[in-house]
Amino acid sequence: MIKQFIANSGILIAGFYLISKFFPSTIHKQSSVYMRLLAGACCGLLSIVLMFFSIPLGHGVIADLRHVPLVVISYYGGMPSALAAGIIMGAGRFLFGNMSASIVSFFISVAIAIGCGFISRWMKRHIITTTFWMNTYSMALISFALFVNIPDHDIYTQTLFTFWPISIIATYVTSNICKDIRQSKEMLQHYKAWATTDFLTGLYNVRQFHTLLRENIAKANEQQSCLALILFDIDRFKYINDSYGHDGGDVILRHLGELIRSLVPKNGFAFRNGGEEFSILLPTCEREAMTFAEHIRTTIEQHSFFVQQQTVHITISIGISVFPMLATNESELFKQADIALYEAKQQGRNRTVVYKKEYLHET
Ligand code: GH3
Ligand code: MG
Ligand code: MG
Repeated sequence: MIKQFIANSGILIAGFYLISKFFPSTIHKQSSVYMRLLAGACCGLLSIVLMFFSIPLGHGVIADLRHVPLVVISYYGGMPSALAAGIIMGAGRFLFGNMSASIVSFFISVAIAIGCGFISRWMKRHIITTTFWMNTYSMALISFALFVNIPDHDIYTQTLFTFWPISIIATYVTSNICKDIRQSKEMLQHYKAWATTDFLTGLYNVRQFHTLLRENIAKANEQQSCLALILFDIDRFKYINDSYGHDGGDVILRHLGELIRSLVPKNGFAFRNGGEEFSILLPTCEREAMTFAEHIRTTIEQHSFFVQQQTVHITISIGISVFPMLATNESELFKQADIALYEAKQQGRNRTVVYKKEYLHET
């Protein structure tokens, strides 16, 4: 019996690993109800797999660790996950015969799900403690179901003597493994964000700028469409730093980042290329890019920034180039937008300039 329970534990751990691979992000109580139901359903299916490796106890009664996936997912996903797992687990028991035992098992599964859902809601403790109590509650109900279904008292006591410690150990090991998988997943997401995002503004950083520029040029080339690069720089930012200090300048950069993010459409990308230089990539041609750039420029001009209880206004100068009408590759696109930005500064700042060949000789 111990051997079969250990085999059950192995399947449990492998199953959890596969489920965690299937979900792009970790499940928690703030995840959408749909994701929590889906995670619960996956754990319900894992419970059914565990039933295929269950231990026959005679009279069509079987024992296994099917409640452990439910316990663990209830901790993370709360009531929706618990109910989805419980209903699927209870319904799955009918695949294994013995109608009366299956009916008892179904109601016990739903009772386990509701109980674990409530424990998850009310018990704000560490995963190991919470899942220990969820497992104790589940095992109490399962012991009752086995008592109803197993007429032989010797088999009943022998089963419980093996089942309880193995269930406690399996829940402990699975909870720990889940915690580890989640930690490495969260760490990976954190490092991914860190490698692509600018820490001050939350916009994409310069490394991501080059990656997305390359990717979007290739896409525009393939689809024979346009890609506009809108490059801009804050006017006289040194003066802001001189007046409000570097920290005051940072406050403006952070708020400007939020403002830019709110203005960029879903199909565009916004970057902080460094210092007080920003850029936007848009899959549009010259006219649309010009209209959008002017919208950005006037919105920023009219926006009030608050630094040290004072209202501050800033302006930006913008340079634009467009692939494939003006530039034929990514380095040319960047160079031309930079030349156009320089021209905007030369013409007096707070304006938008689209690249023209003549500007090449002025720089
Ligand atoms: P221009 O209109 O010609 O762009 O004038 P400017 O004063 O903005 O000149 P420039 O763009 O050459 O100078 C940028 C200044 O921005 C210089 C630097 O001290 C400041 N700066 C660069 N990065 C940061 C930053 O992360 N935080 C703050 N507060 N200031 C920065
Ligand atoms: Mg500047
Ligand atoms: Mg600059």
